[in-house]
Amino acid sequence: MSTSISDFTIATLGSHTALQILKGAKDEGFRTLAIVTPQTRRVFESFPVADELIEISRFEDYFTIEDQLLAKNAIVIPHGSFVSYVGPENIKNMKAQYYGSKGILEWESDRTMEREWMKKAGLNLPKIYKKPEEIDRPVIIKFHGAKGGFGYFIANSPAEFYERIKEFPGQEDYAIQEYVVGVPMYAHYFYSALSGELEIMSFDKRYESNADSIGRIAAKDQLDANLRTSYTITGNIPIVVRESLLPMFFEIGESIVKQSKGLANCPKGLFGPFCLEGIIDPQLNYRVFEISARIVAGTNPYIEGSPYTAFRYKEPMSTGRRLAREIKQAIESGRLEDVLG
Ligand code: ADP
Repeated sequence: MSTSISDFTIATLGSHTALQILKGAKDEGFRTLAIVTPQTRRVFESFPVADELIEISRFEDYFTIEDQLLAKNAIVIPHGSFVSYVGPENIKNMKAQYYGSKGILEWESDRTMEREWMKKAGLNLPKIYKKPEEIDRPVIIKFHGAKGGFGYFIANSPAEFYERIKEFPGQEDYAIQEYVVGVPMYAHYFYSALSGELEIMSFDKRYESNADSIGRIAAKDQLDANLRTSYTITGNIPIVVRESLLPMFFEIGESIVKQSKGLANCPKGLFGPFCLEGIIDPQLNYRVFEISARIVAGTNPYIEGSPYTAFRYKEPMSTGRRLAREIKQAIESGRLEDVLG
């Protein structure tokens, strides 16, 4: 196994956090490759983060070009769109070198398994209602596999639930979750498989349409316009958290990593970048509703590093660069296997 990074190429699908990942890899001295579609090619021609482009007609066709990645000794970096286009099941069959833990994808993509993991880690989770009849406070109804929160709705009673669900005939795969009133906060972490240390990288909240604009018109106008809240994500907004919350964020991040080590079919546990997604209520409880076990788009505002990475690093350190540095250190110390899934 080579211990020189010049023998490797860092590759990813040209979407989601690809700009950050490839810039970070270049900054660490790697050769880089973006897999693009005719629609996304323009982006990577304008922003010169990839040394090479491979074009496919749709991202779902990833496997048609995998041989080229093998020939280039590429290390593929998964991100949210990568997992969604290629599919968690197909990722298991990838032959190219894959950064991260493949086994963890099953745990993060199944709501019940994810909840079991978060519970074991002692996180404060919103209540789940087994039956609509039990609804006794505001709840959010989430459809499984809904992209970007599309179609989620809020109900306050069983009657309201049955009224609203009529708009989704045939849809039975949903979760009824306590609606937590508070502010959304997404915590971005990096856990080093090499050093065993957890780092807080940054925080964000999402900019969602129309949830983030409804408050701009009066309640009466909202009713008159018959508006329905939707959570379609359009961008990410950086946040610096109240400093007294940091010990809690370290504690829960470490607990999630620790508990991941005992999960079935996941021998290496969780490592690399990940994110906890939740709401902080007025009593400062962090109610967590989701884990993303890979780099999240909320790290995109921090290409030049965040207020937190500035404490640890003397140079701009994005999450994309951090993971490239981890791969570089793994290669140079003969431990690449430790960071591949
Ligand atoms: P996605 O499927 O896009 O990851 P999320 O589960 O992140 O969707 O939820 C979409 C939106 O709904 C987010 O803005 C989040 O803040 C909000 N949300 C999700 N769960 C809850 C909850 N239990 N209480 C309040 N808001 C929630």
